Amino acid sequence: MDECPRCQAPLERLSLADVETIACRDCGFADIPVDHESERDEPESWRDAINRFYDGN
Ligand SMILES: [Zn+2]
Repeated sequence: MDECPRCQAPLERLSLADVETIACRDCGFADIPVDHESERDEPESWRDAINRFYDGN
């Protein structure tokens, strides 16, 4: 299993729509395949997106 590069906690595999990614629950790190430019690290935005995804289903 992959480990978080920040805190070495085991990363959780997440599926969001057609995209599968990995994220760390402990520190909010997320390895997100994005096609738009992402200059800042915004784990809160990613978490909001996940919450929105699950709320919508
Ligand atoms: Zn972490």
